[in-house]
Amino acid sequence: MSNTAPKLLVMGNWKMNPPTIGSAKELMLDIRKGIGRHKSEVEVVVAPPTVYLPEMERITPSQRILLGAQDVHSEKSGPHTGEVSLSMLESVGVSHIIIGHSERRAAGETDLEIYKNVQTVLKGKAVAVVCVGETHRDAHGNYFGVVEAQLRAALRDVKPMWLKYLTIAYEPVWAIGTGETATPEDAHEMRLFIQKILMDRFGRSALKKVRILYGGSVKPQNAEALLQEGEVDGFLIGGASLKAKDFTEIVKIGERYVKNNPS
Ligand code: PEP
Repeated sequence: MSNTAPKLLVMGNWKMNPPTIGSAKELMLDIRKGIGRHKSEVEVVVAPPTVYLPEMERITPSQRILLGAQDVHSEKSGPHTGEVSLSMLESVGVSHIIIGHSERRAAGETDLEIYKNVQTVLKGKAVAVVCVGETHRDAHGNYFGVVEAQLRAALRDVKPMWLKYLTIAYEPVWAIGTGETATPEDAHEMRLFIQKILMDRFGRSALKKVRILYGGSVKPQNAEALLQEGEVDGFLIGGASLKAKDFTEIVKIGERYVKNNPS
């Protein structure tokens, strides 16, 4: 991450929740109240369903909570029914875009589409949060190969000057929405592995620019250990981001962690 960026990133992915604009407003206002307006070393991003974005932009005026999108189309405009472009998202306040979430990969999104989306977002100077992760773990460590292949495909043609806009989210699929979490040691091992790939591809300076998040059943109960022992740069959070209390508690755990571990 660049030297001026906050130390950690905590991003909520609401997926296809909550069911109405009224309940989305209530959730965002509760998160806003819990987070407060103070300057913080934890960047907070919420990715609501696309249709709620204009209203979410209206009720999060302070920049303390940034807005994310759950997906984007790589083209600027054209005959792509149901899709949204980067400029459309930016025009309603979005700065961070999730790319290649495992639920989209499972629905058929290909490495090529993910590559194109990464290109579009990084060229457009928005933050690309690129998700990688294995569906299962085996005794032979083949999951490292899976993550490496996903990363190399997504990062093909990425220019070093774009790295400050790149975030990687390691999200083991078996941990998403299941209540199972990677251990802090597992998260740490994968962080080192991802860093090695970034270093091979872009050189050592990449490590200061690219954040590596963990996602997969993050909760207030496991967040501190994942930061402390996993040494991740923050979280991508599904289920717990729909509970204002849990989400804001995780942000506070991040703030305490940064305070107690000044670098
Ligand atoms: C996710 O979907 O990116 C995710 C991490 O979900 P959960 O926190 O619910 O496991």
